[in-house]
Amino acid sequence: MSKTTGIDLQSSTWHPFNSQKVLSHGERMEAIVGEQYLPPVVLNLDVSGKCQYKCPHCHHRRLQVKSKLMPDLPKRLVHTLPYFLRTWKQNGHGVKGCCIVGSQGDALLYPYLPKLLQDLHFEGVQVGLVSNGYGFTDQLLNHTAFYSLFTGFSMDAGTKAGYERVKGCPEGAWKKVLKNIESLTSIIRNNNLRNDVGWKILILSDTYKEIYESCKIAKDLGCRYVQIRPADLPLTQLEEIKIPSVMESIQKAIDELEEEGVFEIVGIRHKFQPNLTRILPSYCYLTPLTVTVTSDGKAYPCVDRRCDEDTLLADCSENGWVSLKEVWGSSQHLNIIHNVINCKGKGPSCSIRCSNYGYDKFFLNYFVQDNVDRNMI
Ligand code: SF4
Ligand code: SF4
Repeated sequence: MSKTTGIDLQSSTWHPFNSQKVLSHGERMEAIVGEQYLPPVVLNLDVSGKCQYKCPHCHHRRLQVKSKLMPDLPKRLVHTLPYFLRTWKQNGHGVKGCCIVGSQGDALLYPYLPKLLQDLHFEGVQVGLVSNGYGFTDQLLNHTAFYSLFTGFSMDAGTKAGYERVKGCPEGAWKKVLKNIESLTSIIRNNNLRNDVGWKILILSDTYKEIYESCKIAKDLGCRYVQIRPADLPLTQLEEIKIPSVMESIQKAIDELEEEGVFEIVGIRHKFQPNLTRILPSYCYLTPLTVTVTSDGKAYPCVDRRCDEDTLLADCSENGWVSLKEVWGSSQHLNIIHNVINCKGKGPSCSIRCSNYGYDKFFLNYFVQDNVDRNMI
């Protein structure tokens, strides 16, 4: 059997969902393997505890991570974050990005979001913002266009009826969100800004038949990417999804709609089994490349296991960001990674999907076993 001896430099693999990007942080990966953690590349941040929607899959996820209603991120923490991220450095490595996401609430409802976007930008921290897209104001649209690298809209449907079924959203939300996306891509286009607007689709039993339509609308509205991925669903709901039909719709959308460099449809199939259930790595090395802070000011190593108190790294609500810096790379942190997350070396047994599956292979093959003879260029 022949082996692949290279990657096709012409093919369209150069997009933000390509897991190979982790190799650009090789020095930090090597440090993790040597148990000398450098600052994380990215801080994932939940800012809001409120949401106007009631998505059933969100509720299911909350049950899985046993999370509760959250407060908004305290004012003191948000105002000190940009400076903290710029100055948290070790051996020339610092925090590069901040991904403002919605897990327990929607980021657009957070009153200090416009200032946060601006301050992070001017402190040299790249920003990703993911939301349901409903709460955009004119000011937020402008700040997002100018100060974010990536803006994701969680859409999950391709029709008004489907959207209302899977979102539990206010009346008129579908139309309002589509208008917001169009306004954002117009500001980006009119100002020659980089367009990384992403339309995100979770494969759900209620709307998987709308995937093609969803991609078509995303393209019409000027989005740069559609990202399609499985959701954390109860098994009974997962079994209602006809996977061959999902794959057919995605292929049709790729064949008919994609334009390289303009509009691309990407998935993360390598992170899931063919039946859309999750895969866990045999050892989880990745987490010290990221850190996740929930809106109550608590810091956790893994974005998927946020709110899992067994993995709690620090509570910054009392003493500020210094609590996170102090625990980073400490014996307490190593203990959480090795003994809690990796079950005393046996490997992880996380009960939730693993957004980071696949990165472990780069750790193993490049930095633990060096199966590629990486210094023999
Ligand atoms: S929009 Fe996001 S935060 Fe709000 S209910 Fe849905 S999944 Fe949860
Ligand atoms: S879900 Fe588990 S295995 Fe995956 S990155 Fe998080 S802690 Fe590691």
